Amino acid sequence: MSLPERIDPDSWQDYRYIDLHCHSNHSDGSDSPKELLRLADELRLRAIALTDHDTVSGLPEFFAAASAYPETEAIAGVELSVGYSARELHIVGLFIDPEEQSLQTFLFQQRQNRIRRNEEIWRKLKSLGYPFAWDDPVFAHVSFDNIGRPHIADVLQKHYGFSSRQEVFDKLLGHGRPAFVQRRLPESAAAIAAIRQSGGVAVWAHPTYRGRNERSFVKRLAKKLRAIGLEGIEAYYAMFGKAETDLVLEIAELADLAPSGGSDYHGKSDAGPMLGCGCGGLRVPAELLAELKRRRPKR
Ligand code: AMP
Ligand code: MN
Ligand code: MN
Ligand code: MN
Repeated sequence: MSLPERIDPDSWQDYRYIDLHCHSNHSDGSDSPKELLRLADELRLRAIALTDHDTVSGLPEFFAAASAYPETEAIAGVELSVGYSARELHIVGLFIDPEEQSLQTFLFQQRQNRIRRNEEIWRKLKSLGYPFAWDDPVFAHVSFDNIGRPHIADVLQKHYGFSSRQEVFDKLLGHGRPAFVQRRLPESAAAIAAIRQSGGVAVWAHPTYRGRNERSFVKRLAKKLRAIGLEGIEAYYAMFGKAETDLVLEIAELADLAPSGGSDYHGKSDAGPMLGCGCGGLRVPAELLAELKRRRPKR
């Protein structure tokens, strides 16, 4: 087995950990679904969920590849963005049926909103002096309705000398920056309902994000979302330290939510977290799976 450099081999145990949040090249990740499974196998993960943004198009390839790795359970997932007062929250659906019609309709709508948002970003960037073309090879591997800001960051990095995706987000594409455009987002209730109707378990992803530690906000909202069908919350996440994980575990208990966890891996070409181990210290216990499965709606 070849563990990534970030993992101290003495602290890693085969098939003890899972990763229930990662992206493939069907959304803004760079690895194929098959490559993700190969990596999960290399890491001896007990389970991996593919959770692309607003699409389930990577899942057929994911499950076709899964049969070669019987020790690693492959779980069908998706990540949805929803609006909540002036902010954006992310809800991961696990154990979904990707063919279920109301989920498909919901996802189609989100991808249409994404296309409209992208066109507006394009216009803003052009007027700011950063024109680019949608037929640029940077976009070649992703379907038009799955293009996200990370891809747009890549095209700007290629043509305008930015040093990283992060720099483009910080200067242009991030919230409140000159080329930021708010996508039209669904209500959390609609996203949770779409996940449940397809047999899935709705999990609030990274409830504290990018350094925010908002105990009372997370507590209040966890209870509210629980009342409309949320069943889980990410307590283990690449960017969480022990304090954040402990906080979310405590809130999970209080709000009767099943803890979940994942890396939010976006691919090797990204400087971000690694599959399974995040920034090195992430360990999502395989024991979480049983309770998450128990929360599946009766169909
Ligand atoms: P989109 O769904 O097209 O709005 O793009 C959002 C994606 O961009 C997220 O899923 C992250 O992968 C990435 N992202 C969002 N905010 C930032 C940020 N401030 N810096 C770097 N990457 C970000
Ligand atoms: Mn992403
Ligand atoms: Mn997210
Ligand atoms: Mn994600």
